[in-house]
Amino acid sequence: MATVRRAAVIGTGTMGPGMGAVLARAGIETALYDLSAEALERAKAGAELAGTVLERLEAAQEDGGSLRFESDLDAALEGADFVLEAVPEKLELKQEVFPKFEAAVSDDAILASNTSGIPITQIASVCDRPERVVGTHWSNPPHLIPMIEVIPGEQTSQATVDATSELVRRIGYHPVVEREVPGFVENRILYAILRECLDLVDRGIIDPEGLDLNVRWGIGYKLAVIGPMELLDMAGLDIYNAVGSYLNQDLSTTGEVSQKIRDLIDQGRLGMKTGGGIYDYTPEQIDELRARRAGKLVAVRKALEA
Ligand code: NAD
Repeated sequence: MATVRRAAVIGTGTMGPGMGAVLARAGIETALYDLSAEALERAKAGAELAGTVLERLEAAQEDGGSLRFESDLDAALEGADFVLEAVPEKLELKQEVFPKFEAAVSDDAILASNTSGIPITQIASVCDRPERVVGTHWSNPPHLIPMIEVIPGEQTSQATVDATSELVRRIGYHPVVEREVPGFVENRILYAILRECLDLVDRGIIDPEGLDLNVRWGIGYKLAVIGPMELLDMAGLDIYNAVGSYLNQDLSTTGEVSQKIRDLIDQGRLGMKTGGGIYDYTPEQIDELRARRAGKLVAVRKALEA
């Protein structure tokens, strides 16, 4: 597969603009396309903001990169050797757009999906060349989190996995190749943590503020430096065995979503986007939090890369 020179990001909602900005900065001619004119217009501001964050990160800026916004799908796909799909998380939608990609690009272009958990094999099943379809699961915000899960479907070729991993390295990110599993690895771990956190809060063992402090300054801070497998070796496998043999059976294994979360949803409290969820937010607080968090993530990433 040829070196990627031109990319098309299809769907410019939450994820598309940041991903486009990263690709463009890495020297790739990138087109952003969305079905909705409003979303495409909003994406201009989103990509610009992501660009300023990349600037603050001092991310390598390669020659030849550019970002353009296309309201015509064929114009966006023209000459693309890497197509990155980021339309909503519905199998029918993904299966609708992939054949359109295939009809417009060359035979060896890579067709990637940013799906959060739909099996790549199912998306690829509607394609003539499923061997070049692959999952590239970026983490939100995509211009800040430098790890991408690379997920081959049953028919994805090794050449596609290799070329995709190579591209991920080229944009300065870490590719992590995984076999298909519901939710993919990052979200499985996150959801296991969230289930236990909500169980502890629901049972009144700890309040939300205490829980957030505990995780941020306990495992959160540590895990950014020492991975779980490394942590096991550091703690001692005998210690893990001794604690795990009584603690594992006490951990939450519920298959249900927390009742407290479902109650909040029923009250219309969906989180920051409705001004409140577990906590309350004024619009000013939301702006300030977003800016402060982005600044901290930039600083932490720089420290971790040093
Ligand atoms: P989003 O709903 O914010 O944006 C999707 C965009 O796709 C919208 O702007 C919509 O107008 C556009 N769209 C719909 N149909 C289209 C079509 N046929 N052609 C072109 N554009 C179309 O979604 P998002 O949060 O950016 O997520 C996109 C994908 O990335 C999903 O598969 C999601 O699961 C995955 N993902 C999301 C996150 C996240 O935190 N939001 C993280 C990782 C992966």
